[in-house]
Amino acid sequence: MSQLLDRLTFFNRTRDKFSDGHGVTTSEARDWEDGYRKRWQHDKIVRSTHGVNCTGSCSWKIYVKGGIITWETQQTDYPRTRPDLPNHEPRGCPRGASYSWYIYSAQRLKYPLIRSRLVRLWREARKTMTPVAAWAAIVEDDKKRKSYTAIRGHGGFVRAHWDEVTEIIAAATA
Ligand code: SF4
Repeated sequence: MSQLLDRLTFFNRTRDKFSDGHGVTTSEARDWEDGYRKRWQHDKIVRSTHGVNCTGSCSWKIYVKGGIITWETQQTDYPRTRPDLPNHEPRGCPRGASYSWYIYSAQRLKYPLIRSRLVRLWREARKTMTPVAAWAAIVEDDKKRKSYTAIRGHGGFVRAHWDEVTEIIAAATA
């Protein structure tokens, strides 16, 4: 029966009782329950962890539906390390438990960010220099270096290309 008909026939509805009146059988629409069932359906479970700047050492069951992570629960198959110690389950933190929501968040960082003042200096230097020489020209020049280090903590990040960031890191650690 539709929910509209349920409402219209609410006072005339027949309810069969059982268990001395503690239970009733009804025939109203229960389609709305499918929303809850679908929320917890999944096609497969894979083992994984989280890459959120922690050790990534906790093992999780990731429930996947249609290629999308829908929810996750902690694995419970850690080996026992010593007979006199309790096992390590459940292992995980709230940040990890909410990761399946975070991974599709609009706020999630998907591209490298770099201080705009630094990237301007870098792009200018790279027009005429090799990566290592360009980095040296920036960090060995007091005025240029201070122009971006002095604004740490004040934001001012811009989106950069992966290749560019890789090149900067390689030059800075050469
Ligand atoms: S549950 Fe927490 S500590 Fe464990 S891997 Fe995930 S984010 Fe890291």
